[in-house]
Amino acid sequence: MMKYNETGKIGYMTIDDAPHNNFIERIDFFESKEIKALWFCNGVRMLDMKDELIYAIKKGHILGNHFYDHVNASSLTLEEIKSQIESTDQLLEQVYELAYIKRPFHAFRFPYLNNGDRAKYRHTNGHDEKVKGIQDILKNLGYTLPYCDGVTYQWYKEAGFFDCINMDVTYDSFDWCHNSPHAVAGYESIEAILERVNEEAPGNGRGLNDATSNEIILMHAYTDMAIFKGLTERMLAKGIRFELPVYKK
Ligand SMILES: [Zn+2]
Repeated sequence: MMKYNETGKIGYMTIDDAPHNNFIERIDFFESKEIKALWFCNGVRMLDMKDELIYAIKKGHILGNHFYDHVNASSLTLEEIKSQIESTDQLLEQVYELAYIKRPFHAFRFPYLNNGDRAKYRHTNGHDEKVKGIQDILKNLGYTLPYCDGVTYQWYKEAGFFDCINMDVTYDSFDWCHNSPHAVAGYESIEAILERVNEEAPGNGRGLNDATSNEIILMHAYTDMAIFKGLTERMLAKGIRFELPVYKK
């Protein structure tokens, strides 16, 4: 049966700042919808949540690296960045070992999507020494860009997001705007964030109704449950099917 706004789109659900409050409830909610997600974790949040993370891994969800602390890469030295990545990587190794499950791939996302060079925010420039240095750190630790089939946005390609190891997003849900002093004007309320899924600006990160590209979706692990569930349900109602990215060398 065709649904309204049926696009045949695949969504790759990625959740940042994990694990956070209601973590098990969020996993179970996704399970009830047959959704597996890629959860980018801050090492500092993992310390007291190992059992919960093992639960998520065993259900088929994937954990990625989001630095130890939630800090801007542009404010750190390369050595500090290396330490942020390595310490979190060790915790990820540990929880996968405890779960007796092999890590499907090593995935990384920058806090604030800040790739280390604020001036070229989000854009990877191979000529910038620090940006390149971070890519080398990731590469040496076995990190690869998770492969998301059918993501074809030209703006995304031009931003260099297929040429770097860190994973970016095509649909930022703006869930972080809820009750935030840093909110983008007009997106402070739950309803505004939920309604945003219907905006049509595929060249500008709002393409959920656009049939031409699949979608890398960003939500946060701390988001109010009404937003977390509401966004997911609205995307499902559009006919979006959720899949996990896969390893590709
Ligand atoms: Zn984050």
